[in-house]
Amino acid sequence: MTKTSFMSQLNKINETIKTIQNKSKLAEKNIKIIAVSKRQSVEKIKEALKQKHFCFGENRIQEAYEKWPLLKETYPNIELHLIGPLQTNKVKQALSLFDVIETLDRVNLAEKLKKEMEETNIQIPCYVQINTGDEPQKSGVLTGEAHDFISFCIHDLLLPIEGVMCIPPQDDDPSIHFAYLRKVAKAHNLEKISMGMSNDYEKAVFFGATHIRIGTSLFGERSL
Ligand SMILES: *Cc1c(COP(=O)(O)O)cnc(C)c1O
Repeated sequence: MTKTSFMSQLNKINETIKTIQNKSKLAEKNIKIIAVSKRQSVEKIKEALKQKHFCFGENRIQEAYEKWPLLKETYPNIELHLIGPLQTNKVKQALSLFDVIETLDRVNLAEKLKKEMEETNIQIPCYVQINTGDEPQKSGVLTGEAHDFISFCIHDLLLPIEGVMCIPPQDDDPSIHFAYLRKVAKAHNLEKISMGMSNDYEKAVFFGATHIRIGTSLFGERSL
């Protein structure tokens, strides 16, 4: 990876986003690109930071702890999103390293987050992950329970819920999933909609994503 390739990929994606914004009434004006750095080296991450890209996503707590504490000390602007499953026994660790948790998807995790936020006095924005395809093997709250769960988190637990997130099924047209996620967000007045990855971000932008999560298209194939 050369010094400029992250930047040239980022520029290309931003150009594509602009084109879609001009075509779609649902597209948001401000779209944040989360550079998904899971299984990417610290060297690659540093190249992105040098180009002044500060928003990243990681999916494993342990890997994130190996890579990010020092970087976050050096670059205070970093915004690190947790985009992978969170176990209740890792909540405290997650709160002290990440800036956003995108994978809140069950009652016991919500309750644990509430408790740890109170104890540590660290409040960070959370997104509710929705299993839009109701796939048994996948994380995320099931569609039939999504509204109740979001209400519970917001009104009963008073958690700082700011958005929703989904990963559509591999072999479905993602459009219906993105349209659905946007509806859920709007129904609860949630501003942040995290959807779309390297292969489907164009559709996600078309349907109103505020955050897209891009790994391989920015960094190349994962290696670690
Ligand atoms: C890995 C991952 C991504 C990025 O995937 P790419 O196809 O490399 O863009 C986005 N979101 C989640 C939740 C991921 O685990």
